[in-house]
Amino acid sequence: MDSRGIKKLTMMVNSAIIFMVLALALFFYLTKAMFMVYFSIPTFFVYVFMYILISRGMYSGFLRIVYFWLTLYMGVATVCLGYSYGFHLYSMSMIPIIYYTNYMAYKLNLRKVGTGIYSGMIVIMYLLSTMRVSIYGPIYESNEFFSMIFWVVNSLIVFSFLVFYTKFTVDNMIKSEDKLKEMSYVDRLTGLYNRHYMMERLEEAYKTSEGSMIAMIDIDDFKKINDIYGHNAGDYVLEKVSKIMKENCDDTIISRWGGEEFLLLIKNADSGYEMMDKLLEKINSDKFVFDDKDIKVSVTIGVEKRDKGLSLHKWIQAADEKLYIGKTKGKNVVIK
Ligand code: GH3
Ligand code: MG
Ligand code: MG
Repeated sequence: MDSRGIKKLTMMVNSAIIFMVLALALFFYLTKAMFMVYFSIPTFFVYVFMYILISRGMYSGFLRIVYFWLTLYMGVATVCLGYSYGFHLYSMSMIPIIYYTNYMAYKLNLRKVGTGIYSGMIVIMYLLSTMRVSIYGPIYESNEFFSMIFWVVNSLIVFSFLVFYTKFTVDNMIKSEDKLKEMSYVDRLTGLYNRHYMMERLEEAYKTSEGSMIAMIDIDDFKKINDIYGHNAGDYVLEKVSKIMKENCDDTIISRWGGEEFLLLIKNADSGYEMMDKLLEKINSDKFVFDDKDIKVSVTIGVEKRDKGLSLHKWIQAADEKLYIGKTKGKNVVIK
């Protein structure tokens, strides 16, 4: 949200509060709760004054006054009318609003408001006003019909808000945790899994998957590609090779193991050999064009089947050694 969006939203919230204050004042007048009618007059002016604070961008001042005045309003309404109307219930929804607004201020780099102080103020006002009503009863006699309607409506508003708020917050927590997890597993440039994630999958496969296979793939003369065509061209090659691997390797977990090196965990070793031959051909035959320049790209692959006698470390090392043999044999080859 930009600063104009914040201003607009705050203006809307303030207007909604003014509308509520006026509608309630009319109701208080009809039910002859005159103190509440008189109290609505300064309340109205306080919120009109708020427009000045909002237009000057003084949001933390706005929030402090709104929190204070709403709390006072709830307390006064409870003392005057008793709790049969349910005005005190709004205290419960104000606390999450205070914390959420603080979170928004943090996200938008705005000044924060002391959440503890205002939450404490609400709790104290809630206790004082309800205790006074418990001891002395409300100042105005409650109208059974109206108090019933208010009780139901206010309860429904507060509960709906709490349900919505909690669901929204928890959903967002899950979403950001998933995103963080995904980010910690995936390589930014290629979109492939990173070495950390692959290590976890390898440990799993080492214990369970009998017929699996590792392929270690390294782009040939990649340093030359960088030197001749530039680093961006190198990145383009990495991205395109990754895309080709994703499109051509079924039932395979693909990771970026290092700079221009990839480690593949192929579930089914029997089809793995053929798959790697085809992948080599595909990379050879695909056109790599960057800035209108053709780049010749090939890879060397070392594959190693899961062997019960090998530790995980040795299994990876064996694939790596075959890759090295491929490099010494002139590259662009699969060593099985
Ligand atoms: P070989 O055929 O023997 O594998 O030689 P090579 O040139 O491919 O291997 P070498 O290890 O000499 O060079 C790898 C280069 O990869 C060096 C490094 O700068 C580059 N590199 C590593 N990560 C990235 C990257 O994310 N982007 C780009 N553009 N280059 C990278
Ligand atoms: Mg290389
Ligand atoms: Mg390398």
